Amino acid sequence: MAKYKGDSTRSIHQGERRIKPCDSITTPVVQSSTFPFENTQAICDFFDGKVQRVEEYGRYGNFTQHVAEEKLKELDRGEAALLFSSGMSAVTTTLLALLNIRSHIIFTSDCYKKTRQFATEVLEKYQVDTSIVEPDVEKIEAAIKDNTRIIFSESPTNPYLNVLDLKALVQLAHRKKIMTIIDSTFASPYNQRPIEFGIDLVIHSCTKYLGGHNDLIAGVAIGPAQQIEKIKQYQGILGPIPSPWTCYLLIRGLKTFALRMARHNHNGIEVARFLEGQKKAERVHYPGLESHPHHHIARKQMNGYGGVVSFELKGDREAASRFVDNLNLFYITPSFGGPESLVSQPAVMTYYELDEQQRKKKGIKDNLVRLSVGLEDAEDLIDDLRQAFDRL
Ligand SMILES: *Cc1c(COP(=O)(O)O)cnc(C)c1O
Repeated sequence: MAKYKGDSTRSIHQGERRIKPCDSITTPVVQSSTFPFENTQAICDFFDGKVQRVEEYGRYGNFTQHVAEEKLKELDRGEAALLFSSGMSAVTTTLLALLNIRSHIIFTSDCYKKTRQFATEVLEKYQVDTSIVEPDVEKIEAAIKDNTRIIFSESPTNPYLNVLDLKALVQLAHRKKIMTIIDSTFASPYNQRPIEFGIDLVIHSCTKYLGGHNDLIAGVAIGPAQQIEKIKQYQGILGPIPSPWTCYLLIRGLKTFALRMARHNHNGIEVARFLEGQKKAERVHYPGLESHPHHHIARKQMNGYGGVVSFELKGDREAASRFVDNLNLFYITPSFGGPESLVSQPAVMTYYELDEQQRKKKGIKDNLVRLSVGLEDAEDLIDDLRQAFDRL
């Protein structure tokens, strides 16, 4: 299957035709909604499977999109990949394709907020049985019922960077004949490849590390060709496809994927170590630190730990907000995985509508600050963090 050994060669060359339209070296943006046939016989031959022809109508695929999918499937060592208009449409379309009425699905509790809302507000409405449990294999096992069909988790998770033991999860799922899906966005295929551990399907928000430039929204599902084909049928009905331009930007971003990830990993650990030495930072959450409760699992299944570092500031919600406002380089916004470093305070952003008690119940502390460390120079980022602490 794999022609190339390394991630950079894969992301630059995989899926590219040697000779391209107009002798271009880059894959063009095929900005076309439909793809005409020569005559009616050609349509019949296409539907009879007599001619090899990939494109038919834009909702069923596009040349630029297929090239991006080839790269993504190789990076995650999967059989097939399917791109979507967003990470959320990758999650929702995949689950709608694979679940039936009254089947049971287990989610882990610090999954992306909109994924949990999809479980509690959409799936429940259509009588899919859902459970949300802590990201821990024993807790997942305890939640399994006769009708459990899917276990869906992230690893690492947001915002505490909990790590789920993929090997133990796969052993459990195989024993119980349950499908496993990992939203691997926080790791990216550079740092973690769940399919190599036996996970059935991997999902990414390409908006983060894969696109890598804070300039596109897209998602991908990767796994066995048969499952991906089933999901593709649903995508054709539901319609959440990526635009050709987005696919072009993704291809462009992917060419530097491995270089960028090495830098995110470097900057991430540098910032995490700096924060650990800060008196005004109470607790630092980063799976690459020996102090992280899941470091021993992370070390076994990850090649690096990425650019997201969260920590609890000594003080209350207002103190944490003051710290965020003191930063000069970090932009105040959610998301992660681009060149610009970002900062968010979950209590005043993602979880603003809840009161302190409700947030506490969800495990979201008011003094929690999440940094998305970008591609700048670590010294400059640390200088910025230091002055923000000093001015508190
Ligand atoms: C951002 C994100 C999503 C949603 O992706 P979009 O591209 O914003 O739709 C899903 N899961 C995780 C873990 C994410 O970080």
